[in-house]
Amino acid sequence: MSVLVYIDTLSGEVAKAAMEAVFYGSKIGPTTVLTNGSISEDSLASLGEFGAEKVLLNKAVTTNDSSQITNLVAAAVESTGATTIVMPLDLTGRAVAPRVSAKLKAGLASGAVTLPNADGTVKVNVFSGKAFGNVAIKTDKKVITLTPNSLQIESTGGSASVEEFNADAGSSNITVKEVRKQEGDVLLPEAEIVVSAGRGLKGPENWGIVEDLAKSLGAATACSRPVADIGWRPHHEHVGQTGVAIRPNLYIAAGISGAIQHLAGVNGSKVIVVINTDPEAPFFKAADYGVVGDAFEVLPKLKEEIEKFKAQN
Ligand SMILES: Cc1cc2nc3c(=O)[nH]c(=O)nc-3n(C[C@H](O)[C@H](O)[C@H](O)COP(=O)(O)OP(=O)(O)OC[C@H]3O[C@@H](n4cnc5c(N)ncnc54)[C@H](O)[C@@H]3O)c2cc1C
Repeated sequence: MSVLVYIDTLSGEVAKAAMEAVFYGSKIGPTTVLTNGSISEDSLASLGEFGAEKVLLNKAVTTNDSSQITNLVAAAVESTGATTIVMPLDLTGRAVAPRVSAKLKAGLASGAVTLPNADGTVKVNVFSGKAFGNVAIKTDKKVITLTPNSLQIESTGGSASVEEFNADAGSSNITVKEVRKQEGDVLLPEAEIVVSAGRGLKGPENWGIVEDLAKSLGAATACSRPVADIGWRPHHEHVGQTGVAIRPNLYIAAGISGAIQHLAGVNGSKVIVVINTDPEAPFFKAADYGVVGDAFEVLPKLKEEIEKFKAQN
């Protein structure tokens, strides 16, 4: 059963979620990776190291136009004979996978958290991560998107051959007017640790204590939706049902009530720490560790303790 994995490398690097999709594909069958844009030599080598046998590089399509990418993927499926198409469940995967599924008349399992069973059934996240479903894809060709952080990748020690891939992707209906890159040392969807805050922080001028703790931990910063809506923080930091869905190893939430729409984007986190002045805040029910306290006191204290710990180790 051969596999085609599509990953976006428009930034020049391979994101963690994309590498997971490559590794996931290699566990299903011999894997070819299709990508567009530029990609560094190191990143190319790492694709082989994490399971790709071959990399197809397309340099013609350099936008995120889902229709063009769909055409590219369909052409690559035809040329490789792949029967399983895998993509990370990132912004591109969410837009392209359903289109590929419709174009190839292939069943889609969206948000896989495990490898397919022997009978082809795939376990997926449903209802914003509140439950699991088992999806049996009955078509010969199968499309799977992989939920980020669902599996631990390991080096396979392999290497991949690289070929240019040219196919007619059709014309683009999209005009890119501006590209704004996310700021910050650690990108939110990739982050292992996230420090997040909500309306309890009272105003944007108080975010220094969130950023300081994040810096100490090598973490990304995030926020609840109202905080982004009122312009205290940029929208790309908003996590939840209508924002970014994350699954870090550690999620620290300060001054966030824990509304169901917020939880929908963070409840896949491995460990959740909640800091809230209200002992009845709903977030405590989802927390592994809870601190009933004032974020303005607890966050600086936490940072201080982490710095002490780092100095001793
Ligand atoms: C369709 C829809 C989609 C939505 N999508 C999202 C989404 O994707 N993401 C999202 O976040 N929300 C989303 N929401 C909004 C959501 O319902 C909540 O309103 C929102 O999450 C609340 O944000 P908050 O916790 O920051 O603010 P609040 O609900 O105002 O909570 C503030 C919390 O801070 C605590 N607090 C106050 N002072 C302090 C202090 N000094 N120290 C510590 N704690 C303190 C309070 O006890 C309180 O629990 C959505 C809503 C709808 C209707």
